[in-house]
Amino acid sequence: METVKNKTFNIPSVEELGFDPVVLRKKYAEEREKRLRKDGNAQYQEVTGDFDQYNLDPYVCEKIVREPVTEIIDAAIIGGGFGGLLAAVRLLEAGIKNIRIIEKAGDFGGTWYWNRYPGAQCDIESYIYLPLLEEVNYIPKEKYSFRDEIFEHAQRIGRHYDLYKRAFFQTQVRGSNWDEKNGRWRIETDRGDVLNAKFLIMSSGPLNRPKLPAIPGIEQFKGHTFHTSRWDYDYTGGDSIGGLSRLSEKRVGIIGTGATAIQCVSHLGAAAKELYVFQRTPSAIDERLNKPTDKEWAASLNPGWHAERNTNFASILSGIPQEVDLVNDRWTDLFKSLSELMSSDQAISMEDMAVMAEIADYQKMNKLRARVEETVGDKETVEALKPWYRQWCKRPVFNDEFLPTFNRNNAHLVDTNGKGVERVTENSVFVDGVEYELDCLIFATGFEVGTAYTQQAEFELIGKNGIKLTDYWKDGMRTYHGFHARGFPNCFHMGLTQTGLAPCFTYMLDHQAQNVAYIAEEVLKRKARSVETSVESEADWIETVNQPTFMSEYQSHCTPGYYNNEGKKGGKGFLEGHYPEGPVQFYAMLKKWREEGDLKGLEFHL
Ligand code: NDP
Repeated sequence: METVKNKTFNIPSVEELGFDPVVLRKKYAEEREKRLRKDGNAQYQEVTGDFDQYNLDPYVCEKIVREPVTEIIDAAIIGGGFGGLLAAVRLLEAGIKNIRIIEKAGDFGGTWYWNRYPGAQCDIESYIYLPLLEEVNYIPKEKYSFRDEIFEHAQRIGRHYDLYKRAFFQTQVRGSNWDEKNGRWRIETDRGDVLNAKFLIMSSGPLNRPKLPAIPGIEQFKGHTFHTSRWDYDYTGGDSIGGLSRLSEKRVGIIGTGATAIQCVSHLGAAAKELYVFQRTPSAIDERLNKPTDKEWAASLNPGWHAERNTNFASILSGIPQEVDLVNDRWTDLFKSLSELMSSDQAISMEDMAVMAEIADYQKMNKLRARVEETVGDKETVEALKPWYRQWCKRPVFNDEFLPTFNRNNAHLVDTNGKGVERVTENSVFVDGVEYELDCLIFATGFEVGTAYTQQAEFELIGKNGIKLTDYWKDGMRTYHGFHARGFPNCFHMGLTQTGLAPCFTYMLDHQAQNVAYIAEEVLKRKARSVETSVESEADWIETVNQPTFMSEYQSHCTPGYYNNEGKKGGKGFLEGHYPEGPVQFYAMLKKWREEGDLKGLEFHL
């Protein structure tokens, strides 16, 4: 038995614990079994053709009118969310100024442009999530920012760095080809633009395309309908703070109980005549614990605090011991309680460590199940709302208003016992043979995750010798460090492409942006035409990120969802296929790699 210290550890008894891990393990497996389905990701459908309306932009007041542009630029950045903004800022800092951001939406903000549903709020602490706070001299109003503040921050970054003049909004890339002769990417848009860019930076986001369940009859529904990321305030009234006054005479249904629904359901409950929440798997809902920013604390911050706080948070969540927990919230909770359990004895084997992690997980989930009992009155609803899986099987959520909604007389939980909605007709939703007549049906069914990268990006990349990225990645992503794919020179991927995955996405995106800017600068300094990963480096990287990890084993026992590729064996879920040692080590490794200066693994073509 491999030991990390030198003695063995006494696992607490059932009496000491107050619960039996064997019983819970069995219950979790039964619940997973109920939700497993053969079709995996094929249970969802694309928002194209008849469903195109779910993907349109309802927030555009005026369509931008402009002439097509043909230009030669240094860098084209696809996506104007925080990833694209950070890439732009880091490129400008590196002296690469002739850049263009192409964004399908009407403004910067990415996910925070689209997701305006009532109650939309970021679950990651604002002081770490909002990027470039020190640079633009802004302190968020609360520990957890609501959507408007985050969107305004994206706009603030745009203004501060004068990025509006470098952006094409309401513009979609239609295709992108590597032009070997000129050493440039030729990018065509739906506005007739032709951009010839030395560098192509892909930051179109991992959760950008709404998806719908392929429920039989879904196309027949004649009432009002929309996806949460395209909220129709003309129909509901109100805004992202709530006040949905036009729903007072409406029977509203919402399908889904993920992170989005957890935030908007209380607003629907407060406004609708009747609300039906169609649930397949309950979320595990922890406390929100929001509070206004303490002005004295804000004034006491020293330069460099933002990066320090971010690294502290990412370290705790990666299991790297820290003397102090700066963020100190429900994300860091589980990891701290685990560390406490570990430090209570100086000798733990790897097996015992896994057992302790499982026990800490059960303890946490027991607390969350108890919270349902303490909050909701109706016993049947309480049982249906209890989550039976380990904490990282699904996205942890934090909210204080969702559960009490079910104490209202007009709010009804329709639990589908893991099976999902049965069918939809012109006026109704059916579950287990029971009809629910509705005026409005809202889809809180999430975003494309398990589909092809190019489908999510909504265009094809054609690299050297006409190779399509869709074909090159048909058996899974192939990158070096998550940025470079062989045959696609001068193209950089940002986001969740075999990278150091961090719960705070902006931490991850900023480190990625810094690396992209550094390499682009090196290409220019070396007067190279292009940079490309070597075949061997790409192969080594694929092996590194695909090795079995604690998380892949963990996810294989989880209830299905996008975290584990809908429970399909062998596929890569959202949390898999990343740098196994975690984000802090990954970005530290990249920093060292840059400092070494020889850009090992990359080939420069002169
Ligand atoms: P999710 O994919 O997390 O949730 C989709 C929901 O739809 C699930 O509850 C799913 O059930 C349900 N569903 C799908 N098909 C059916 C069906 N046929 N019948 C009934 N129910 C169905 O999407 P969200 O929009 O909630 O969240 C997406 C991601 O966005 C989050 O995971 C998070 O990363 C991010 N987010 C972040 C926030 C933040 O604070 N930073 C806030 C909101 C979202 P099942 O679970 O069984 O699959």
